[in-house]
Amino acid sequence: MRYFPIFVDLKGRRVLVVGGGEEATRKVRLLLKTDAIIEVVARDLHPELAGNPRINHVAETFVPRLLDGAALVYSADKDQNAHVSAEAQARGIPVNAVDEADISTFIVPSIVDRDPVVVAIGTEGAAPVLAQSIRAKVDALLPHSLGALAARAQTLRERIAGLVPAGNRRRAFWQEFFFGTPNSALDEGDDVAFELAVQDAIHAQSRPAQGRVSLVGAGPGDPELLTLKAHRKLQEADVIVYDRLVSPGVLELARRDAVRIPVGKTPYEASPRQSEINGILQREAGKGLHVVRLKGGDPYIFGRGGEEQAALEAAGIPVDVVPGITAAAGCAASLKLPLTQRGQNRSITLLTAAGDTGLAEHDWAALARPGQVFAIYMGVQAAGDVAARLLSAGIAPATPVTIVENGTLPNERVAQTTIGHLWETIHTRGIHGPSIIYVGLAKAKSSADIVPFPVREDIRDAILRAAS
Ligand code: SAH
Repeated sequence: MRYFPIFVDLKGRRVLVVGGGEEATRKVRLLLKTDAIIEVVARDLHPELAGNPRINHVAETFVPRLLDGAALVYSADKDQNAHVSAEAQARGIPVNAVDEADISTFIVPSIVDRDPVVVAIGTEGAAPVLAQSIRAKVDALLPHSLGALAARAQTLRERIAGLVPAGNRRRAFWQEFFFGTPNSALDEGDDVAFELAVQDAIHAQSRPAQGRVSLVGAGPGDPELLTLKAHRKLQEADVIVYDRLVSPGVLELARRDAVRIPVGKTPYEASPRQSEINGILQREAGKGLHVVRLKGGDPYIFGRGGEEQAALEAAGIPVDVVPGITAAAGCAASLKLPLTQRGQNRSITLLTAAGDTGLAEHDWAALARPGQVFAIYMGVQAAGDVAARLLSAGIAPATPVTIVENGTLPNERVAQTTIGHLWETIHTRGIHGPSIIYVGLAKAKSSADIVPFPVREDIRDAILRAAS
């Protein structure tokens, strides 16, 4: 950007226009929209300007001393432009020589004027025709009453703040004000209808709104893996109740003034119970707020989304659900490991290692059968038990295992091992973050692309000593 767009306050300031012809008249027409003191230096004045009491006509040839105290200078006289520009620049006064960008220090944008709303469009002189057509489009887009409306909004602001609660409802009020009935009433010049429409809009938004909860999947961590819908919900939320597994990058994308309530369940630390989380969701939605319950991965996959939904629906609170990319899918993509492959596996099982009290029960014999592929969630702590069950159910000890910790995040780490060495690998590599353990999945992408865990020699030696 070579030219920096700014809006200059010209109230009571002198603007000099050199020249009295067609071009000068065009500039003066624009300047007349401001409260500038307009001085036109020209022997002869265009009939449109002559006699206008706002214009101070200096009927002489340009001399540099006329520049003293000017805020801006327009030069619209071909023979004088170079001279005027040089003198203005010598005094540090911004100057525009009409159609001569090389001797101008500012250029003038195309504008759409709905004072006090002004849209300025510039192409740095590269494509004036483009600027004109954008101008026409914006012009068609903005209601003609917009300026008057914005001026009314200014006077109403305090009254609305006292009557309509901040947040979603305040935004909804202004949305209606600018693009709904008040706008059309003002456009038709009907002041009574305008006032009634404003009162209706206030009334509609000051009634206690129906609160609701969106159960939203945040994906495995990389913010770019959010769905568009999840992103929109995060932008609309009044309150965001989020889990420990939701990455800071995802929270970055939420509306700045949304209230954030962490309810992370952290192993070994005091964390809210499910009943408390349900209570928080009901309390916030009960205030008429839009609550986003943000969960890692997908809300319906090992996310207790169903339980929260049931509790809310039992309390008469509407719930909607936005799916997310589950960890097993996200980690697989990150490693470029297909979850199903023709000729290899035609199904994949997602399972959790964590049961209500200890290890979750599964049909270990079925899982141990050759060719089975499964992704274990919440499996790091129980990995030893899982491996023991599978091995005693007859799984081949050499069955490949891929462990992905913090998948899709910058600190993603990957370990490759076998079911026979699963427990040892987890301990010797110090794996303790959220991890997916894939069993039976075909080889990972080339090892050059993945960040391996270094072996913790001390722990490995301790294990070997204990085993001998
Ligand atoms: N609803 C989530 C799962 C929540 S259970 C989903 O659909 O993904 C929490 C478990 O998810 C963790 O113990 C871990 O097994 C897995 N997990 C979540 N995020 C992960 C990540 N970025 N990398 C690896 N595993 C992850």
